[in-house]
Amino acid sequence: MSFWSRGQAASGAASLRVAAAPARPLAAERRDDAPDYQADPDVLLPMLDELVRQRRWGSGTTSSGSAGFAVFVIELRRSDRTQALARVDSARAAMDLVCRRLAKILRPGDRFALNGVDEILLILPEVDSTGRALLVARRLVDDLQERMVDLTTYTRVRPAIGCAIFPAHGDNAEELIAAADRASRTARTTREGYRIAVRGEHATEAAQLSADLEVALEGNHLQVWLQPQLNVRTGIFDAAEALLRWPRAEGLSPVSPIVAVELAEKHGLMPDLTQFVLNTVLRESAQFRQRGLDLRIAINVSASMLTDATLPRTVQLALELWDVPPDRLTLEVTENTLMVDAERSLAILHELKQLGTRLSLDDFGTGYSSFAYLRRMPLDELKIDQLFVRNLSTLPDGSVNPQREGDLRIVRSIIDIAHNFDMHTVAEGVEDEETLELVKGLGCDVIQGYFTGRPMPLSQVDAWWRERRP
Ligand code: C2E
Ligand code: MG
Ligand code: MG
Repeated sequence: MSFWSRGQAASGAASLRVAAAPARPLAAERRDDAPDYQADPDVLLPMLDELVRQRRWGSGTTSSGSAGFAVFVIELRRSDRTQALARVDSARAAMDLVCRRLAKILRPGDRFALNGVDEILLILPEVDSTGRALLVARRLVDDLQERMVDLTTYTRVRPAIGCAIFPAHGDNAEELIAAADRASRTARTTREGYRIAVRGEHATEAAQLSADLEVALEGNHLQVWLQPQLNVRTGIFDAAEALLRWPRAEGLSPVSPIVAVELAEKHGLMPDLTQFVLNTVLRESAQFRQRGLDLRIAINVSASMLTDATLPRTVQLALELWDVPPDRLTLEVTENTLMVDAERSLAILHELKQLGTRLSLDDFGTGYSSFAYLRRMPLDELKIDQLFVRNLSTLPDGSVNPQREGDLRIVRSIIDIAHNFDMHTVAEGVEDEETLELVKGLGCDVIQGYFTGRPMPLSQVDAWWRERRP
């Protein structure tokens, strides 16, 4: 993941920060016969500046007399990203193919440049409206996708295109690129694969926070913490849930994982976030195992990921990469997951199950699932929502919460349902011994809560488990 920006050199001269592009001849002009498709990124920004200047002052127009023009950021998502870490060649090969194709499709006057191995900046001086931009984007997605099928055994490339139009989405080169860049992130989550920029979005606080999140993701500033789970039948802490943490710079308020996840969903960062959590968890899991700590670890999978057909392959590749047995990984989904596209999600759940991973239904009892769906989900576990667990214990003044009776019945019923479906149950949010004993007495199999163990950074895991070794 990357973004286009100018670094201000000491001389004041602007230069573009780009990752090294493949060594190929540079060409500012499009040529029909030429494989040397690359416009030099260093000439592209000044060119964009010049175009803005001309159109702003009316010294240049499109052939139809309009001042508008389009800037696209094309991000290439590959289905082999985990593998690609080790196989840069496949990324290069994919980019190569895309660029050759682009050089054929584009019109004279169009320019593009590469940013690293998975991003392209494209300037279309004749595309002056969102309507035309959408037509071009659709054509590009179709064409590029079609060409990608026979790449390598693993690679499938899907372009995500963000389109910004001058002057609606930005008044200068930076604004236009930033707007197109943000739109390309959103495009990732759409089925069609392209998005027009949102007007004025750059001004909002949420957009700033999402940019921060993107930087945190890219810079590896996000963390995964683990919360222990106690198997009450064996008395052993044999599992844990991975929870996202976003430590921020001093002076900035902490952001809850719920907000971070929402932002990631909205701005198309979810695939990257999931990759990050998945790979961090599996890497740690492999290391724990080498040190004799065999934990099952659960990660939370958001609804949008469960409609992404590449998820099972991603999980499989990550398991292979870190050499972790699939049953050591639990994927937690929520009931509402099925609301996006039930049939598709169910199919993906079954694929994940076939890989051998465990599946858990999180926050059970608060969502929208019905028995009809429950029956069709290949689940191993139900997690009882904290809502039904937190009011079970006696209050400090000796009285009981009026909700307690009702909640006890709900907890008992959920445990019953789970056992009837051959699943086991996890009680979340257990904060004291009385609650632990109550849910244990009702037949709950696993306890997760502040009483048995709070979420902790990975650096504390070894010592915590060593102290509780059976
Ligand atoms: P969740 O998956 O239901 O996770 C359990 C939440 O309950 C965690 O909050 C945990 O810290 C908290 N918790 C555990 N024991 C207790 C307790 O005894 N009392 C109380 N009051 N709370 C307890 P956290 O870490 O703030 O995460 C909130 C939610 O954010 C998670 O709910 C999950 O839906 C989401 N989330 C966290 N990490 C990720 C992630 O990596 N990916 C995705 N997609 N979602 C995540
Ligand atoms: Mg969870
Ligand atoms: Mg939960």
